[in-house]
Amino acid sequence: MKKIVLILFLFLPGIAPVLQAQVENAPSEGISDEQLFRTGVRELADDSFGGRKPLTRYEDLTVNYIADKFKTLGLQPVNGSYFQEVPMLSVKTNVKGNVVTMKGKKGAARFRMMDDMVLWTLHAEEKLKVSKAELVFVGFGINAPEYEWNDYEGIDVKGKIAVMLVNDPGFYDDSLFRGKNYMTYYGRWTYKYEEAGRQGAAGALIIHETAAAAYGWSVVRNGRANNILCLNSPTGNKERVSLQGWITGEAAQKLFDVAGKSLDDALAAAKQKGFKSFPLGVTTTIETNNDIRIASSRNVAGVLPGSDLKDEYIVYSAHWDHLGIDAPIDGDSIYNGADDNASGVAALFVIANKFRQLPEPPRRSILFLSVTGEESGLLGSEYYVEHPLFPLVKTVVNLNMDAYGDKLRTSEVRASGGGLSKDIDRYVVEAAAAQGKPARFSTTNPGGGFFRSDHFNFAKAGVPVVLAAGANPLPPKAPEGMLWGGKSAYHQPADEYRESWDVSGSLEDIYLYYGIGLRLANDGYFPKWDDATYKAARDEQK
Ligand SMILES: [Zn+2]
Repeated sequence: MKKIVLILFLFLPGIAPVLQAQVENAPSEGISDEQLFRTGVRELADDSFGGRKPLTRYEDLTVNYIADKFKTLGLQPVNGSYFQEVPMLSVKTNVKGNVVTMKGKKGAARFRMMDDMVLWTLHAEEKLKVSKAELVFVGFGINAPEYEWNDYEGIDVKGKIAVMLVNDPGFYDDSLFRGKNYMTYYGRWTYKYEEAGRQGAAGALIIHETAAAAYGWSVVRNGRANNILCLNSPTGNKERVSLQGWITGEAAQKLFDVAGKSLDDALAAAKQKGFKSFPLGVTTTIETNNDIRIASSRNVAGVLPGSDLKDEYIVYSAHWDHLGIDAPIDGDSIYNGADDNASGVAALFVIANKFRQLPEPPRRSILFLSVTGEESGLLGSEYYVEHPLFPLVKTVVNLNMDAYGDKLRTSEVRASGGGLSKDIDRYVVEAAAAQGKPARFSTTNPGGGFFRSDHFNFAKAGVPVVLAAGANPLPPKAPEGMLWGGKSAYHQPADEYRESWDVSGSLEDIYLYYGIGLRLANDGYFPKWDDATYKAARDEQK
């Protein structure tokens, strides 16, 4: 196998160093890649790190550990520090009486929190009141010029509560947006609240529907039962909608009943091009008392300076945070997050070490970024792209690593987001070929999976991203990921490091990203987007 790979490499000079390193297993100061990887995972996933929850004392332990490691690996601090402060807000919203009443021309309806509706604020305000706000049905709540779709056209929602559908029109009509099997970002709930904020709405309520959301009501409800962690802006998030929420399908029916309007007609109309949003003739007053805490978390950053193109950047990222200490399962209350995502952080160490060992520094600089708050909604990466340490317009690519643990060798490379950037796809094909593997691309995104890790914030800000990993042809020949006793350890205390982990596939995936980053670091090219939304974001960068 290795001989075949070797021959392939002879024709791919840009990636040749990957192979060299791979064959020699790169002992540096007596440490192999595998040892470096295992040590990183073992230590970060140790019980003494308490599951690495942001804003706890375990955060200090974690970010200092990563910064020390970056320093040892020869990475330089940025502006004199390995840390980027990330202002955060922790908020628990308490709706007065746990009930919201809405009045329309056909009477009043009461909605119980959690059962009929969930509501929360991301404002840093202990008391928040939305008085006599009118409700407006805004279809999907989407303003997408590239798809010639604007649900907010000709309607003023300032100070009002916008009620909307989940997903995007393509889910119902293959000729609209990107069709049924590809949820665009416009279909994601986070977009809908952002857009309602830009429109000046006081609130945004999404009507839940299991098929279109890709998850049930319990997921929505449980996600909002406790404190919510979010970024905190200089205004205390006043630019966001005051109240965000979801309402069940049955409760939406009640809402339309008191409005004297047909929910079915509204849903059918909203799915047609040219739909016009309309007021429901319903008002409500909502008061909340909120427990708030303002604090800073940290991203960790270290840079390996390039040579003649050193003001251009390749960004490797991996979130350091996990779920902390919570309800015990089988007597264990520490959610260690070995696979998710001590493994991604350890992969950063391995890749940094490989770049450092090159006989000549790469032409472009390499930024290693370990971000906070991924588990709370991709917060650290969102903050980074809003406050980049180096200009995004000079940021060539983001290679994000999430869940690299316990992985057997694989026979192919599978990539998400195929076609978004044909340039990126070519780099993936080339790097996969260098490992003797075919690359397969998925061009669908039915549940919006593409939006659920940190790479997405880079894409949204216009930076091209790679999302590729080794896989076996389906059905899998060998178990993938962390299956212990046939049970997935995902987001469980059982996501622990074990010496019995097979990391041969983990290392292959690390080398895949190393190969792509190395190629881009030296060939001086800026990969371009083909997708209209991300391309527009790239064009807007300064
Ligand atoms: Zn993760």
